[in-house]
Amino acid sequence: MNTKITKPKTLKRIDNTEFRIVWQDDHTSQYDLSYLRALCPCAECCKLRNDGQDVHSLFSNIGIGNIDKIHSAGIQAVDVQLVGRYAIRFHWSDGHRSGIYDFKFLRSICPTEKNKANSEEPGNICS
Ligand SMILES: [Zn+2]
Repeated sequence: MNTKITKPKTLKRIDNTEFRIVWQDDHTSQYDLSYLRALCPCAECCKLRNDGQDVHSLFSNIGIGNIDKIHSAGIQAVDVQLVGRYAIRFHWSDGHRSGIYDFKFLRSICPTEKNKANSEEPGNICS
């Protein structure tokens, strides 16, 4: 697999609503912060999206669930931090900060690449 597609060249919070990643293969992904918040990969949010299923079952391949269950309208990122070399963590304006968004995951949820055949199944995103 081409690792350039899961390694960012630049990461940028554009304004209070948008976050942009330019990847090493020169693809640009632009995300609504509310979209990223709704897809938070932490166990708590996975549980919410998946109708309160047992946390252990979230490690199986059941997809990302219903993102409308996370109320994220108007959410802002208070802070964004790098986690090692593989992920970023957002500190959201609702106080939530447990989600670690690894770059593979971020690439797989890129709004402009949703229908790409080789995108990874987002089933194992829950941490
Ligand atoms: Zn979360």
